[in-house]
Amino acid sequence: MSQQIAMELTDRYSARNYNPLPVVLSKGYGVWVEDADGKKYMDMLACYSAVNQGHCHPAIKAAMLEQLDLLTLTSRAFHNDKMGFFVQKLCELSGFDKALPMNTGAEAVETGIKAVRKWGYKVKGVPADKAEIIVCADNFHGRTTTIVGFSTEPSYRDGFGPFAPGFKVIPYGDIDALAAAFNENTVAFLVEPIQGEAGIIVPPTGFLKQARALCDKWNALLFLDEIQSGLGRTGKMFCFEHEGIRPDCLTVGKALSGGFYPVSAFLASSEVMAVFEPGQHGSTFGGNPLGSAVACAALDVLVDEDLVAKAETLGAYLMEQLRAIPSPHIDFVRGKGLFIGVVIKDSSGPARPFCERLMELGVLAKETHNQVIRLAPPLVITKEEIDWALERIRQVLVD
Ligand SMILES: *Cc1c(COP(=O)(O)O)cnc(C)c1O
Repeated sequence: MSQQIAMELTDRYSARNYNPLPVVLSKGYGVWVEDADGKKYMDMLACYSAVNQGHCHPAIKAAMLEQLDLLTLTSRAFHNDKMGFFVQKLCELSGFDKALPMNTGAEAVETGIKAVRKWGYKVKGVPADKAEIIVCADNFHGRTTTIVGFSTEPSYRDGFGPFAPGFKVIPYGDIDALAAAFNENTVAFLVEPIQGEAGIIVPPTGFLKQARALCDKWNALLFLDEIQSGLGRTGKMFCFEHEGIRPDCLTVGKALSGGFYPVSAFLASSEVMAVFEPGQHGSTFGGNPLGSAVACAALDVLVDEDLVAKAETLGAYLMEQLRAIPSPHIDFVRGKGLFIGVVIKDSSGPARPFCERLMELGVLAKETHNQVIRLAPPLVITKEEIDWALERIRQVLVD
C-alpha cells in the first residue's frame, strides 16, 4: 500500500490530534524502522522511550508468543499465574514493596493520585477533600481530564474543563517555590526527575534531594513520574538514582511494554499501597497474563543486555559529540544518558524543519516544544549506529 493512501485514510477516518512527520512505517528491528516503500530509518525517538529495548525484540516477542498460546486475559476477578512473578520482578528491580499494574502511563499516574490522596486522609489525617498535590509547570503526566487539569500547556487543557481542584503548580526546579507551596494538607509532590515532553529539561543538581527533605519535613509523599525517564533511559535504572534519593511513590510505563503491549504500574511502600481495599480501584486489563509475561521479558532484556550501562556510556558519547558540532543553529545540548535535547536557537526558526531534513537523510527525530530536537534512541543502539546518526545530524545542523 502506498504511504499516501495510509496517511489519507488516517486523516479521513481519525481525529487530527497529532501532527506526524510524513512517513508511514511498516517494519522495525532494533534501532531501525522501514517505511512502506522499504526505505530504512534510524528511530531516534524510540516511541517516547517505549521501545528502549529496540523494535520487535526477539526475546520479548518469544515471551509474548508463548503466552498467546496459553492465556491472555482473566480480569482480576480471578488470579492468573503470571502477575505475581511480574510484580515480584518489578519490586525487586525498583526496591519498592508493592506494585499495582495498570495499562497506560496516564492510568498509573491516576492510580498514584488516588493513592496519595487516600493516604493523606487515612494516614496523615488531612480533612476530607482538602488534600493538595504540588506539581510543576510544564509537567507532562498524561491526557486524562484530571491530569490535563493541572497542566500549564494551553494546548493540552484548553476547552477540556472544568478541572479537578487540589493541585498547586510551582516552577520546575525552583526549590524556594516548592518550600513555600507546602502546607499541612499537602499529601504529595508529583514531579518528573527530567521533564521529557517539556523538552528534556534537567532540574538543578540537588533539586530532588531538597524536595525529598521538604517532603520529609511536611510528612508528604515524594511521587516521581518515571514513565519516560525510568527503565534505563538516563543511564541509571531510575533517574532518581542520580541524586541518591528514594521516592515514596513511582510510576513506570512505556518501556515496561518493550513496545509490544501496554503495561504500566504504580509503585509504593506497603503503607501507601495498603490504602486500597477490594473494590476501591481497578482495571479490566491491568495485571493480565499477557501483559505480565511481556513486562517480565521487557525487564529481563534491560538487565540481561546491560542496557542501563549502555545508556550511560553511549549517552555521554553522543552528548559530547553533539556539543562539539560547530553549528550556527544549536543553542545548547542538555540531558542525561540517552535522553538528550538539542535546543535550536530562536533565530534559526523552529526545530521542525531540521527534523524534516533529518528524516530525508534517514534519521527519525521529532521536535518537542518548537525549539527542541529530542534524541532518545532505543538503548540497544551501538556506537557505530550513533556515529551513523551523527554524520547526518552534523549535515543538517552545520549548514
Ligand atoms: C508518556 C508519559 C505519560 C503518559 O503515558 P501514556 O501511556 O501516554 O498514558 C505520563 N508521564 C510521563 C512522564 C510520560 O512521558
